Amino acid sequence: MDLDLDLTGRRALVVGSPAVARLAIARLLHSGATVFLTPPAPASESALAADPAVHMLAQPRTRAAWRELLSAVDLVILIELPRSVEATLRAAARDQRVWIVREAPAATAPIGHVTLVGAGPGDEGMLTLAGRAALRQADVVFFDRLAPQQHGRESAPGAEWVDVGKTPGHHAVPQDEIERRMVDAALSGRTVVRLKGGDPFVFGRGGEELAACRAAGVPVTVLSGVTSAIAVPAAAGIPVTHREVSRMFTVVSGHAPLSDDTVAHLVGLGGTIVVLMGVGTLPHLTAALARHGMPSDMPLAVIERGLTPGQRTTITTVGESTEITARLGVRSPAVLVIGEVVRLCADDDAALREVAALATGR
Ligand code: SAH
Repeated sequence: MDLDLDLTGRRALVVGSPAVARLAIARLLHSGATVFLTPPAPASESALAADPAVHMLAQPRTRAAWRELLSAVDLVILIELPRSVEATLRAAARDQRVWIVREAPAATAPIGHVTLVGAGPGDEGMLTLAGRAALRQADVVFFDRLAPQQHGRESAPGAEWVDVGKTPGHHAVPQDEIERRMVDAALSGRTVVRLKGGDPFVFGRGGEELAACRAAGVPVTVLSGVTSAIAVPAAAGIPVTHREVSRMFTVVSGHAPLSDDTVAHLVGLGGTIVVLMGVGTLPHLTAALARHGMPSDMPLAVIERGLTPGQRTTITTVGESTEITARLGVRSPAVLVIGEVVRLCADDDAALREVAALATGR
């Protein structure tokens, strides 16, 4: 079921056993529908009981009986049914002009599965359709601080949502602990989504999580996400490449200061430099860039909280950035862009350039 319907007060009939229908049921209840479930076997024979809010019904045996049942509902979610019975159901649904939506069964395998999902930066709209589909199948979601989650939560209201970005003591759950919890959940048969900010493989430790799953024999899939390295500059109107301006971009981590050698190479490349996690080391980086011959008037953009309502773009130069960012109180999360492409920054940001100029008193 991939329809954005308002189901408040509507009656939905789910066809399938409680185990395979559990995620569809959770979403329907979440969206305000009254849910009826008709399992293939009597409910007492089913391994898993459905949510107590669900009305259980015996499965009809004839087209007339299906018709009668369908006359009382608005929508059918078909999850599992023998082919011959499905034909009868479909005929009855045509008679009654009731919608049927087919949905994949939730996993019931003894070993679960992990999907590393990139949530994109800042805005929930950056989540891919594939990522959303994975969330809809999830029993448990381990999410990070920088992963937007609103849409995800709507897609997977039946899942357990575990914040591994911060614990109540404001410390992130250590990486090996995250990996252990993910693997344990999958080994106990659950369908796991690991929801990460941006793209899982761009400074996201996704590679380590992939390796941990493989080492434990847990099936694992990676769904790329929109990375902040490209999307956050774009949100400020800065293309990381532009014909005749820059034909390459290098994405570096500013988590620790770069070596002189690396900075020398970066300057030598002459392309766009995009820095993630670079607010703390910005003074070190710009000093090193200048030492290795980058002109001090090379434009530098800092985009804080990209793709959120609090997005702020500061346009400055390599020579002045340390002073300006300190005055403006620039904070993480932010993406730095260094290079001629910064001059292409959207006109909308002209006002912010003025703010930057005011901050330096010019
Ligand atoms: N895997 C992520 C990056 C993780 S490292 C990705 O592909 O985007 C975390 C860094 O990403 C932050 O320090 C910041 O530099 C950047 N970042 C992530 N989200 C951001 C946002 N909404 N605005 C600005 N920077 C962001």
